[in-house]
Amino acid sequence: MTPAPADALLDTLRGIVGAAQVLTGGDLSAFEQDWRRRWRGRARAVVRPGSTAEVAAVVRACAAAGTALVPQGGNTGLVGGGVPDATGTQVLLSLQRCNRIRAIDEANLTLTAEAGCVLQTLQQAAAARGLLLPLSLAAEGSCTLGGNLATNAGGTQVLRWGNARELCLGLEVVTATGEVWHGLSGLRKDNTGYDLRDLFVGSEGTLGIITAATMKLAPQPAATTTALAACASLHDCVALLNLARTRLGAGLTGFEVMGRFALDLVAAHFPALPQPLPAASWTVLLEQSDVEGEAPARARFERLLEAAIEQGCVTDAVVAESLAQSRALWHLRESIPLAQAEEGLNIKHDISVPVSAIPRFCERTDEMLAARWPGVRLVNFGHLGDGNLHYNVQAPAGQGGAEFLAQHEHAVNQVVFDSVAEEGGSFSAEHGIGALKRGELAARKDPVALALMRSIKQALDPAGLLNPGRVL
Ligand code: FAD
Ligand code: ZN
Repeated sequence: MTPAPADALLDTLRGIVGAAQVLTGGDLSAFEQDWRRRWRGRARAVVRPGSTAEVAAVVRACAAAGTALVPQGGNTGLVGGGVPDATGTQVLLSLQRCNRIRAIDEANLTLTAEAGCVLQTLQQAAAARGLLLPLSLAAEGSCTLGGNLATNAGGTQVLRWGNARELCLGLEVVTATGEVWHGLSGLRKDNTGYDLRDLFVGSEGTLGIITAATMKLAPQPAATTTALAACASLHDCVALLNLARTRLGAGLTGFEVMGRFALDLVAAHFPALPQPLPAASWTVLLEQSDVEGEAPARARFERLLEAAIEQGCVTDAVVAESLAQSRALWHLRESIPLAQAEEGLNIKHDISVPVSAIPRFCERTDEMLAARWPGVRLVNFGHLGDGNLHYNVQAPAGQGGAEFLAQHEHAVNQVVFDSVAEEGGSFSAEHGIGALKRGELAARKDPVALALMRSIKQALDPAGLLNPGRVL
């Protein structure tokens, strides 16, 4: 009996990666459902190659069968880009087993690792050599290097070190036809034609499969300290940012704002977490990395905050006394998304505008939302130093989050995104487009840019088999 064509492909895949690494039955929700549980698809199979050669062979087999592939790393993406659609026809390509650290070059300050390495594992490997991989986000315990680069992840250190893109020196990529581009390089300077690396970074699995990368490292700072400051307005937060930049220079490595309601939610849902300052309209978490040590860093923070109080942009402040206290302050910031999830579904935004425009953007958009949806609550927090806010809209108290989302998401988005556009901002600052924001991209991206993007997609993946239905 000749096997059905569907089985023929799976048999080929089993031949490449081994039968145990082609999953077709049982509970595959860890792969088929996204982190937010907003998207749930069905994969034809979950395939788990263990090397670049296996990834290339899988891609060739799927290309020959005309079968679409969805690459996935840690499955922490927030825009529905890494889970299969509902058709049951797409092969989910999990990179998690491609997880070797290939090299750490201490003199060149680089780390080369495979795509499936968990970010935190890489941070720890660098730290063990006294080095810093300066990419940090709340999902770092599960997100992968490949996913970080495919989404050009941001996080909490962008202010000092840039997005994942700025940290990437070289890539190894399996193309849509199953060839391997050996672009791993530890070079800081290489002007030899078009920048293919930057084409793949941020392409969300639609142009090629990232199998390994070379990342920049830095020396570990002698000390990292944090402080918390209370501000009466966003204008004051921006004034504090500028003062901190002037006083701390490159030592300022984090500047996060937390709105009053965001911290109220943390207090309500995680009452055991200490909140060292009395509630304020805005609370800023500052992080400083210092080459000298903890005591001088703390002293510098104290002088900065005294100056800020004198200048009137800060009403109250506290400097962490120990590493444990610093961690607790970060924990507070990182608990906001979790507290929000406890409160119920909400309409999430990940917007950026120039830092100078942030106060005006929030004042105007807050007013427009309140006028149209009285009682609506804003969970506003994020990376003020990068002009990037998670400007999330929660249903009025007592109204169900799911119901509010279903009824008003589109209209709320239009108000927020129109306001963002007026300030020359971006409707997706760090989480990407995925499946969630495709419509916005088509409607809001410059038409010439969109046409160029389509030509690139056509050139690199003419059959449209890499993560179809995402981005474009
Ligand atoms: P996945 O979710 O598996 O995939 C994401 C996208 O990349 C998908 O489109 C997928 O197809 C593609 N992809 C994955 N691996 C590859 C590969 N090897 N080759 C090609 N394409 C690939 N993001 C930020 O930018 N900043 C934050 O501060 C931040 N904080 C977060 C906090 C929490 C609690 C959570 C859950 C998420 C957060 N994110 C943040 C979003 C997410 O963690 C990042 O986008 C992360 O980089 C995704 O990595 P991943 O391995 O989980 O990728
Ligand atoms: Zn963020």
